[in-house]
Amino acid sequence: MASVEVRNLSRSFGTFKALDDVSISFEDGGFYALLGPSGSGKTTLLRLIAGFGYPDQGHIAIGGESVERVPLEKRNIGMVFQSYALFPNMNVFDNIAFGLDVRGVPREDAAREVRRALELVQLSELETRRPHQLSGGQRQRVALARAIVINPRVLLLDEPLGALDKALRLDMQVELKRIQREVGITTIFVTHDQEEALTMSDRIGILRAGQLVEEGAPEDIYRRPKTRFAATFLGEAN
Ligand code: ADP
Repeated sequence: MASVEVRNLSRSFGTFKALDDVSISFEDGGFYALLGPSGSGKTTLLRLIAGFGYPDQGHIAIGGESVERVPLEKRNIGMVFQSYALFPNMNVFDNIAFGLDVRGVPREDAAREVRRALELVQLSELETRRPHQLSGGQRQRVALARAIVINPRVLLLDEPLGALDKALRLDMQVELKRIQREVGITTIFVTHDQEEALTMSDRIGILRAGQLVEEGAPEDIYRRPKTRFAATFLGEAN
């Protein structure tokens, strides 16, 4: 577990500024939602923290250690994507074990860790199933178990519930919170669903056009006089 600190982070694609001088402190063990419309830079920020590419400018520290030039495989970060990204030809157990195998964890230790992760996401009964034999919610639990099993310092979730229907989405919100509390892991959660951000997180940052336009606890974000955009985004402007 570790805090994450980004300072004056910028990243352009050609002449387009996807992230423009963004600074955020993500508290150790906290659940932080990055909220904003499509194209506002949420995924770009997550990818830079994970180590998919480097920033043009700025600093990233994980647990107080500068990582902006550290390659992805040395950052020890767990990621979950909307698309699940499971291996279709591997069963649930092997999908979760994969990250431990590539890290050379001995088979017996890996098996113990995988069983613990399966218990955490309540999928112990389904370990021999293939992804196509699972529901969307179950697949997302496998993806979560796979991210957590490597004992990451930080968990990055990119619209993890976006592919689920409304009822399942609400169930998974509760599940995800339970799991995050149980593991106590620093979590950064990208969503464009303000309700989800408000109910799940203890801190929210709102991005617009690559800039951080609002930041604070959910209750403060609602109470505070807002920038025009944030008000519009939160559905309170005409
Ligand atoms: P969000 O996650 O908020 O939807 P993104 O961070 O994915 O936003 O994207 C922000 C902007 O940066 C978008 O306009 C997107 O097209 C652009 N962008 C992101 N990644 C790339 C890339 N690899 N090459 C070119 N443009 C990109």
